[in-house]
Amino acid sequence: MMISLVQQQHCVRCPALVASRRRIVHGYGDVMSGIVFVGEAPGRHGADQTGIPFSGDRSGRILRRILVRLGLASDETATASLRCFITNTVRCCPPGNRTPTAAEVQSCREWLDTELDLIKPRLLVPVGRIALQEVGKRYLEGAPGAIRTLHATVLRGREVTILPMMHPARISRVDAEAFIAAMQPLVDRRNEP
Ligand code: SF4
Repeated sequence: MMISLVQQQHCVRCPALVASRRRIVHGYGDVMSGIVFVGEAPGRHGADQTGIPFSGDRSGRILRRILVRLGLASDETATASLRCFITNTVRCCPPGNRTPTAAEVQSCREWLDTELDLIKPRLLVPVGRIALQEVGKRYLEGAPGAIRTLHATVLRGREVTILPMMHPARISRVDAEAFIAAMQPLVDRRNEP
């Protein structure tokens, strides 16, 4: 079932992001898969234009290449059939692709929480430092630690397995292979009857 769970297109809580965004980009994908990837923010040359998280730019292509390898996407395009749900901590592209502020992430938290409340993921992938922080607040006891240290490391959260991943903009080929190797058994286990 490929859908966005949140359709709100009029949120104006973050003035700087409202001024810079082309559109609000909510999460998109298979809401029944139990697998959720949480990124940082829509990219200026990607999701801000396509309206679909992690598509249309280099980071999107790298992530989707990994999804195809894992059997979670039919191909690398924005319109691929997904077997996971992809969302972000903030839904509007920050000016100059800067990191969203803590206040902006907090303002947007309601939309992320709505998606996670409805999907109830069993496997969660925070993509990048900001996403790991937010996922940690909800599912882990205390601060999770640095993304570089926890990349491709299985964490047991409250009712969810968490596998952090470095942001595709900074991931090396070796790191990508390490993530796939750690993720594949979790995906396969999820598919067992
Ligand atoms: S980032 Fe989130 S909270 Fe801020 S204006 Fe966009 S949708 Fe609203």
